[in-house]
Amino acid sequence: APTTQPVVVIDAHDLPYLNRKLPIRKRVDDLLARMTVAEKVGQMTQAERNALRSRSDIASYALGSLLSGGGSVPTPNTPAAWAAMIDTFQRNAQATRLQIPLIYGVDAVHGHNNVVGATILPHNIAIGATRDPDLARRIGEVTATEVRATGIPWDFAPCVCVVRDDRWGRAYEGYGEDPALVQSMATVITGLQGKADGSQLAQNTHVLATAKHFVGDGGTTYGSSSTGSYKLDQGVTQVTRQQLETIHLAPFRTAVDLGVGAVMPSYSSLSVDGAPPVKMHGNGELINGVLKQRMGFGGFVISDWQAIDQLPGDYASDIRTSINAGLDMIMVPTDYQGFTQGLTAEIAAGRIPMTRIDDAVRRILTEKFKLGLFEHPYADTSNIASIGSAAHRAVGREAAAKSQVLLKNEGNLLPLKAGAKVYVAGSNANDLGNQMGGWSITWQGGSGPTTTGTTILDGIKQVVPDATYSADASAPLEGHDVGVVVVGERPYAEGVGDVGNGHDLKLSDADRAAVDKVCGAMKCVVLIVSGRPQVIADQLGEINALVASWLPGTEGAGVADVLFGKVPFSGRLPVSWPRTEDQQPLNVGDASYDPQYPFGWGLTTQAAARAALDKAANSLLRSHDPYAVAAGIAAGVALRVPAWSGPQATIALAAAAQSARLLERAHADTFTEDDAVVGVARWIAQNHIGQNITEPTSKLTSDADHALLTGHLNTAVTNLITASRS
Ligand code: BGC
Repeated sequence: APTTQPVVVIDAHDLPYLNRKLPIRKRVDDLLARMTVAEKVGQMTQAERNALRSRSDIASYALGSLLSGGGSVPTPNTPAAWAAMIDTFQRNAQATRLQIPLIYGVDAVHGHNNVVGATILPHNIAIGATRDPDLARRIGEVTATEVRATGIPWDFAPCVCVVRDDRWGRAYEGYGEDPALVQSMATVITGLQGKADGSQLAQNTHVLATAKHFVGDGGTTYGSSSTGSYKLDQGVTQVTRQQLETIHLAPFRTAVDLGVGAVMPSYSSLSVDGAPPVKMHGNGELINGVLKQRMGFGGFVISDWQAIDQLPGDYASDIRTSINAGLDMIMVPTDYQGFTQGLTAEIAAGRIPMTRIDDAVRRILTEKFKLGLFEHPYADTSNIASIGSAAHRAVGREAAAKSQVLLKNEGNLLPLKAGAKVYVAGSNANDLGNQMGGWSITWQGGSGPTTTGTTILDGIKQVVPDATYSADASAPLEGHDVGVVVVGERPYAEGVGDVGNGHDLKLSDADRAAVDKVCGAMKCVVLIVSGRPQVIADQLGEINALVASWLPGTEGAGVADVLFGKVPFSGRLPVSWPRTEDQQPLNVGDASYDPQYPFGWGLTTQAAARAALDKAANSLLRSHDPYAVAAGIAAGVALRVPAWSGPQATIALAAAAQSARLLERAHADTFTEDDAVVGVARWIAQNHIGQNITEPTSKLTSDADHALLTGHLNTAVTNLITASRS
């Protein structure tokens, strides 16, 4: 609770908009009718808290919102200091004529990631690898609870980008390259906000979510900028109308269905069917037309940081174009004076209709009412102890474990035995900052122990306390059973990734040397801690087991959980893993798709699935009859196709048996492996997609999906036949 009571300028308490018993619509009508143009303009203005010349400017400009950009944190950076800071700003807003509360926003993109001591979850690319929508929802709840406990009601997350080129420096902010996968993970919005009707937004376990960046942020084209520099971030997305709909707009449809309260346009431009590119911040056809009118989005549109400044023309024209295109609130973030003056002038000149302004303000106020901010403008810190609590860290640990993708496991080296003599090496084995990645305590993130958590080495040592650790592999190598080499990227945010390395998807020389040294001396597991795939083709031969660890966050113990078999590996690739850098953009469904590991790949150490594979492989060894082939294929599928494991393995086996029987009856004498492949694919697609599998019903029924499944089946049968012959 605030220590100082707000200054009450007028006694507004009897006014209808302050009557919580009235429907929100009525309250908004009443309030809007009382507002001056200046007050409306203020609601549409979001300033950065560091840019405030004086706190009294909140009242002078009637500001509607403040934000902390990445790394804009109070001193000390503690939960209590955040709550106190936001309450102080709120007191200034409460000192205005109408006492309209501020809505404060932050980028909590993987937990409350600006705050020291908070639970920092794996980045979204890792969550995509879990294929677990319920986990994504719980992650949303953890994040919302921690964020709201510091007095912040609004989160600029999730990024529902569909990542088409891994050289993009924001690849890890997305859930993967497949729109259906991204859509399935949009459950995070439900975790953040609660029910789609917004009825739970006022609870202290929920915040307003922001689906970003509308639209096509993950589809920008490499090297196509007018300046000739690499423009994977903030560049141009060139698509056909159909690609726009099925790839990039699809996740926003889901977000709107889930009641997302805010949408943030993308810095990028969009070119549809070869038309000249249009900056998304001025794209009325998409924002007004598609998002608001066609999709029926009822929340408000918040610009990205200084993004309207990138529109062609002077600042007055930037303001006019963006607001008329459907933007409701502008993240200024520094020159709020210039912006409010400019917007006021445009309105006065009749270049922005008052109906547009009223619509914008109505949208903003509606979310503020839903959030209960008029009743409770100040921080409710009753959940402050949940920040970084054991319960929340347990969710982070579960997510870290479930997101690990086992790419290779020669001779079933994993899981490791608890008694093994382990040699741990590599630059990312003992670096909390590196395993959190960007957007962690600071905008760009940073190496080292920037907050509290367990590194992957800490996790390993909890199981094998006497493990040898040598980051650069200079400690004696003899006397160990297995090496665990943890390599990968250093933190970065936005742009094109690795600072200094540009668009490079390669490991550092030091990491490569550590792999050579350890894998040359003993059996080895290589973990790649990174925001996106790293090209590893030339070292693959010397690596016995390979794991994509992504950016697991503060709970490195989750990685140790799968390494030592406490939890089986179950993660699946959310993006295709390239053989070479210049294969990018590389996406499933491409005409010449030839990845190192395909989208959806991921071996398992799950006992039931392994037993099924063994059984199938054995029967294949003994007999080349169609049933065995089909069973083998199905087991392979069960182990490798996204979202299929455990009970799904059984379903796939049954499907294979049935399909083989049907096919045998139809043309027993001409039955081929290809028939089995197609048969299994059809049978599964017709009978089991949608009923038992978490993917939407339409999944795998289109020609492209069918081709994808057939591709997986082919890989599976090839592997099994190779195994049977060796
Ligand atoms: C990013 C947004 C983010 C905003 C506010 C921008 O640079 O593109 O994703 O929400 O900053 O921090």
